[in-house]
Order: sequence, then C-alpha cells, then structure tokens
Amino acid sequence: MKVLKFGGTSVGSAENINKVISILEQQSKNSNIAVVVSAVGGITDKLLEAANLACDKNKDYIDKYNAIWSKHNSVIEGLFLNPNKDKTIQKSQDELQDLISIKLNELRNLLDGIYLINELSPKTKDKLLSFGEGLSSTIIYHTLKSRNLDATLKNSQELIITDLNFNNAAVNFDITDSNIQSFFKSNSNSIVLLPGFVSKSVSGEITTLGRGGSDYTAAIIAAALDASELQIWTDVSGMFTTNPKLVKQAAPIIELSYQEAVELSHFGAKVLYPPTVMPVLKKRIPIVIKNTMDPEAVGTTITEDIKPNGSSPVKGISNIDNIALLTLQGNGMVGVPGFSKRLFETLAQEKINIILITQSSSEHSICFGISDSDAQRAKEVIDIVFEYEIALQKIDPIVVETDLSIIAVIGDKMKSHQGISGKMFSTLGRNNVNIRAIAQGASERNISAVIHKNDVKKALNSLHEQFFEIKTKQINLFITGVGNVGERLIEQIKQQKAYVKENFKINLRIAGLSNSRHMIVNDEGINLKDWKEQLENGEKASLEGFFEHAKNLNLRNSVFVDITANEAVSKIYGEYLKQSISVVACNKIACSGNIEYYNELKSLSRKYNASFLFETNVGAGLPVIDTLSHLITSGDKVNTIQAVLSGSLNFIFNNFNSETTFYDVVKQAQEEGYTEPDPRIDLSGIDVARKVLILARESGHSIELSDLESDNFLTDDAMNAETVDDFFNTLKTDEAYYQGLYKSAQEKNCQLKFVAEFNNGEAKVGLKEIPEGHPFYNLKGKDNIVMFYTQRYPEQPMIIKGAGAGADVTASGLFADIIRIANN
Ligand code: ADP
Ligand code: ASP
Ligand code: MG
Repeated sequence: MKVLKFGGTSVGSAENINKVISILEQQSKNSNIAVVVSAVGGITDKLLEAANLACDKNKDYIDKYNAIWSKHNSVIEGLFLNPNKDKTIQKSQDELQDLISIKLNELRNLLDGIYLINELSPKTKDKLLSFGEGLSSTIIYHTLKSRNLDATLKNSQELIITDLNFNNAAVNFDITDSNIQSFFKSNSNSIVLLPGFVSKSVSGEITTLGRGGSDYTAAIIAAALDASELQIWTDVSGMFTTNPKLVKQAAPIIELSYQEAVELSHFGAKVLYPPTVMPVLKKRIPIVIKNTMDPEAVGTTITEDIKPNGSSPVKGISNIDNIALLTLQGNGMVGVPGFSKRLFETLAQEKINIILITQSSSEHSICFGISDSDAQRAKEVIDIVFEYEIALQKIDPIVVETDLSIIAVIGDKMKSHQGISGKMFSTLGRNNVNIRAIAQGASERNISAVIHKNDVKKALNSLHEQFFEIKTKQINLFITGVGNVGERLIEQIKQQKAYVKENFKINLRIAGLSNSRHMIVNDEGINLKDWKEQLENGEKASLEGFFEHAKNLNLRNSVFVDITANEAVSKIYGEYLKQSISVVACNKIACSGNIEYYNELKSLSRKYNASFLFETNVGAGLPVIDTLSHLITSGDKVNTIQAVLSGSLNFIFNNFNSETTFYDVVKQAQEEGYTEPDPRIDLSGIDVARKVLILARESGHSIELSDLESDNFLTDDAMNAETVDDFFNTLKTDEAYYQGLYKSAQEKNCQLKFVAEFNNGEAKVGLKEIPEGHPFYNLKGKDNIVMFYTQRYPEQPMIIKGAGAGADVTASGLFADIIRIANN
C-alpha cells in the first residue's frame, strides 16, 4: 500500500486534476493506494477571507463566497468537458453539481450566520475550513467514478480523532490508528480517496490539523497502515536547497534524512508541513516529494539512511518570515534561577510558540523569536508577570523588535565540518546583512540567524551561492555614464561574459544603467542585446533614484561604476559604500578633490567591507595604481615619481612641429576623442596634476591640489576664453608663440613632454624639454609612462608604459577593477 497526497495547486484546476488522475491510474495498477487531497488551490485562504469579512459585518463576504462558488463550478465543467459526452457522463456531472450545490448552500448559511452573530470562534472556523477539502474530495471522487476507476471516498473525519484544540488539533493516535486499520481492512477498492486536513474530536466536533495539514493527514494514514511509501505531490520537483521562489539557482535535493527534513520544514520550507515526518519516521516509511506538473522529475526522497555522496555538509537553507524578537534583560537576572522558567511558562500558558531562543552566557539577557502576530500579546503578559521586578528596576520592560525573519542553514553533516558558521556569518557580513540574533541547535544540525525581512532575499542568495554554487560568484553592476568609455565597457562585458563565467567562475550582470537622461534597473540583469533601446525608454534619470534602486534591490556583490566626469556623481560614493556596495570610479574628482573626502571614502570602504577602486584615474588601462598599492602594502616606500601622464598632451606634442599648426593638432586630438570636450582641461595640465596628486596620496602623502606647483604653457587669452570655440581661435592667433616652444626644444635636440613629478612630498607638473636618451624622449603617440623610484628600486626605476588614453583601454581598466572586486 502506498499513500499519495496531492496539494492545492495539484488539484487547483481541471487541467491539473486530469494530471493527478493519470498518476492515480498508473499507480493503482500495481497496488491499492490511499489518496489524500487538499482543498482546491487558494480556497482555504478564500474561506478565511470570507469568514473574516462576515465577522466584521462586511457584506463583501458574499463576493468572496461567489468566487468560491464559481471556482468549483469551473473546475467541474473543465473535468466533464468531453466532446463525446454520453448520457451517463452527463448524469454523473448533474449529480455532482447537485451535491456541490448542497454543500455550497450549507457554506452560505454558515457565512450568513457568522455575519449575523458577528463572531468567528475557533470552533466555527474549523467547521468553515472543512468545506475546502470536503468540496475538492467530492469533485475528484465523482470524476474518478465517471471515468470508471475503482474508487471510493472516505471522510477522514470518521478516522482521524483529535482533542478539542481547534485550528491545530492534536491527534489521538490510539483511536485514529485503529479506525484507519479497520477501515482499510474491510475495503478492497483500488483507490481510497480522503480529504486532507480535517478531523473530529472524540465528542464529534469538527477540528482541523493546522494550515498545511493535509500532508499530516497522509502521514498519519501511511503510518497506521505501515505503507511502503508516502508520496507528497506538489507544485515543485522536491524539497529544494532553498526557497525556489526567492532563489533562482535553488535545486531539488535528491536525498534527505528525516531530521534534515524536519529542520528544513520547521524553519520555513513550506513544501512539507513540519509534523508530517514524525508518524512515518517511527515506522521508517520513506517520504517522496514529487511534482504533479512534472511527474518524471526525480524529486526528493526522505529516509533514515542516506548514502554518503561527498556532497556539501549543508543540505538546505530556509527562512521564516514575520518574526518578532523579544528581549528580556536586566542586572537582576544574573545568577538568579527561575527567570527563564517563569518566562517560558507564561508563553506556554498563552499558547505562544517559541521559534528560537538565545541566552548570553552572562545571563544578563534572554532573547527569543516568535511570530509577529503573537508579539503584542507576549509583551503584555510578560510585563505583567515581571511587574514586580520591573518596578524595582531589576529588569527592564521587555523590548520588542518586529519586521524580522529567521534564516537557517541545515545539514546532518555540519557537526563534523569546521567553519560552516564562520562561512555563514562572513558571507552575511560581506553582504551587509545585519544579524540581530544567532542560535545553534545542540545537535549542530542547524544554525539560524535573525535578520531584517528586507535582507532575506539577499541573504538566501548569498548563502546559496556560498554553499551550493561556490563555483560561480554573481557580480551585480550599476553603471552610470554610458558615453564612449561606458559603451565600450558594456561591449566588453557582453563579449567576455561567457568566458569569465567559464574560466573565472564569475557571473557578471548589469543590474542598473543610467545616463544623464534615463535609467533602467533589472534585478535579473539587463538584457544587453538592446540595452540602448531599453535605456532610451527607461525612467527619468536621477542620482538619488539610481542609488535608491541599487539599495532597495539589495543584491549581493553590488558594484557602482562611475564613468562620468561629474562632480555630483562623485559626491554620492559614500552612500553606496555605506550600503556595502563597492565603487569603481573612472571619474577622478573624488580622489583628487578634498583630502578629507578621499580619506573618508577609504575608511568607509574598510568599515563596510566594500572596495573603492579607481585604477583608470591614472594611465587609463595601465596597472599603475594597483602596482603602487602592491609596493606600498608590501612595505616599500616611494621616493620619487616621474611620469608623462597625459595621453592627449603626448599626442599633441608628438604631432606638433614646424609642418603642422598647434590649432590643427589640438583640433585633431579633440575630434579623435583624446581630449576632454574642452581641451583646456588637458592642456592646462590640471588633469595631469590630479593624476600625480592621486599617485602621491596613494603613496601615503596627504597633499591637496593647491599644494601642487603647476607650470601652465597656455597663453592667458587661451585660458580666459569664454567658449571652447573662442579658445580654439586664440590658438590660431598665438600660433607663433606655440611654434616658439617647439623651436626652442628642437634647437637643443629635445622633445617637448608634459611631465609630472613627485619628489619627497612635493609635486609639480609642467612642459619640459626632454633630452635624447631620457626614457621619455621616445614616448610615442598617446602613450603614458610612469617611473617609480622606491627603496627597493632606488636607481633603476620600476617603469610602467603603454597606451594611456582611449575608450577601449580605459574600459578594460574598469573591467580589471570589476574583476579585482569579484576575486576579492
Ligand atoms: P501544496 O499546496 O502542494 O501543499 P505548498 O504551497 O504547501 O504546496 O508547498 C509548496 C511550495 O513551498 C512551493 O511552491 C515553494 O514555493 C515553497 N517552498 C518554500 N521553501 C521550499 C523549499 N526549500 N523547497 C521546495 N519548496 C519550497
Ligand atoms: N487546505 C489546507 C491549507 O491550505 C491544508 C492543506 O492544503 O494542506 O492549509
Ligand atoms: Mg502544503
């Protein structure tokens, strides 16, 4: 004998009930089966809603009732939809419809009664709830009969006998087991259909087994009959590694022990009602969880002995929402026995279920988690019980925190593995999930933490990644500024995504994109095929709005990438870091502005465990800052830095000679994108000054831009010109002056280079005549060069040289920063 239970979704539509019937046909061929069914999906909730409305004297209960009525009728119509409907089939449909009408009229009378007396007692609630399973089992039974299957319907209320604890009754196993055994002994039908969830007290009152209780009904029957298997048919392919509605990567667990299943279901894996395991555990009956919509899928088998298969010691991660945390504390508790006893006795008397308890070893406080809905009541009763101690200030009035959730990491083998809790908490910490309380069962099968409800999705995803997908790490990018460089970065991500995933196990996703006009976000990752179109149709851009999106999506490993040259954007980095969102900046303003802000960002980065990287600030894609940082962290000291750091100035002076004009060369540099839109930002040397300032700061010196000596070679007219066009006109007028600079260098056989220098705490920039033989002399095109003279490289400097400007190399520098964060 096997016992099969079908849940709400499985019997939620004619289409699904037809799938159930094929499963029954197949399984009843081999042996007789007992089949327990839930109410049609969503009906139990609707019954409760209708009753609550009626109880509140709200006539809308009639609409709810009508919805219940039409749902059942449409299921019947769907089941009897048959082009070759003969008279007998039509007759059984009519009979069924009559039966259902009678039941629904009874329900209507009950609801009217609740409306009239304005009251809904637990006892009446059970009477009401029992309609759900009563209706579904009647419909399925008549359908089976009309299809000539050898089936009978048995009301479980005549078998399962409980106490009078309405809504969550306790089973009297002696009577129940013998009822079940004697009924099945005298029955020979291949299929016995039974409504789940419903029961009766010894005195004959209708009771129920608690929400989700149809699983339990099936387990009770399986245990009483010594069934060979209990099958739980539902809408997912087994017990998953974590809630599949919250974590896309969750996967079915093939095998679980009874204890693991108990812990997972107790801590929120709704797919199995927690009491279900106990009756079958005693008889060692395996539980198999299967998907009605995908019967071929393997599902989950829950047994006593599971084969060691070298898999992760963590089997699953679950969550319970709507938790309140209550803390009882005070110096008067220390060393005084009996506090916990009084506290927990009070809660027990109030029938308040405690989900988690922690007590500090100082005995100064006890903290426990209960359902949000019990919190107020719990506070009231506890404050009364400890009134005397509170008045004497021996203890404080109880503190209640709400809007919390519990997450639990579960596995039998966890106790023999070190470092699981370390991994769990460091993963949560890295992702800025604040932990309010921690509990670890003495069995070490479960470590649970209380966190804010808004962090649940992120916590489950990060833990799932840590324990089950260690192979790939997801990085969620929020990119602002999609000009030349931004566009190249997106292209590079698009191109390299598969490679990086395959070879480095990093899953790069762009979760947010913004330019100055529009922004888009998508927590599943933006589809990069048509990102431009999507962005054009996105919502209106705003810096704060973009930040709010990144914060509220609350995705793990989030990175904000600033590819603008905008001051306002640079001001918001701190906000991102405070949310543990890393920052990658192409924008130089933050690092070269006020030193306090630079220091603050560095310290926020440390405090919130979020990287702040800006490799492209100096030398575009060249690894200048990364190299410098490695030198410094390994204990080296920088004495002198000499560098040519402006790709644009280098391009200009490499192409400027007596055959060309200064105007043409600058114009060409601007048109080819080597300069800022206003070339003076490059030509005035301010950009180079910012770069050497950043290098000086990264070498450990606290200097400001105003401390820098800057030798400006542009004319006053050029500097003062109001518009960019006016500036270009001054180049034409002052051509002779610029030719003079060239000639002077040429006469000495020198090359003009705009050089940045840092020496013993002082930095300066300016145009220099570089003699032949100097490493700068032959610098080509838009190349950059940096020479570090350090304690370890005193005579022969460490040199980094290569293209220092251009959208492609800059984008690859940003890409490298992102990968550095992912590898962190
Ligand atoms: P039924 O109506 O068949 O009894 P339930 O809704 O009670 O189904 O349980 C199945 C649901 O449990 C799934 O649809 C899923 O959303 C939820 N669930 C939560 N955690 C888990 C988990 N770890 N594995 C599988 N399902 C889970
Ligand atoms: N119908 C009941 C409920 O929704 C029992 C069940 O489906 O398991 O809680
Ligand atoms: Mg269920």
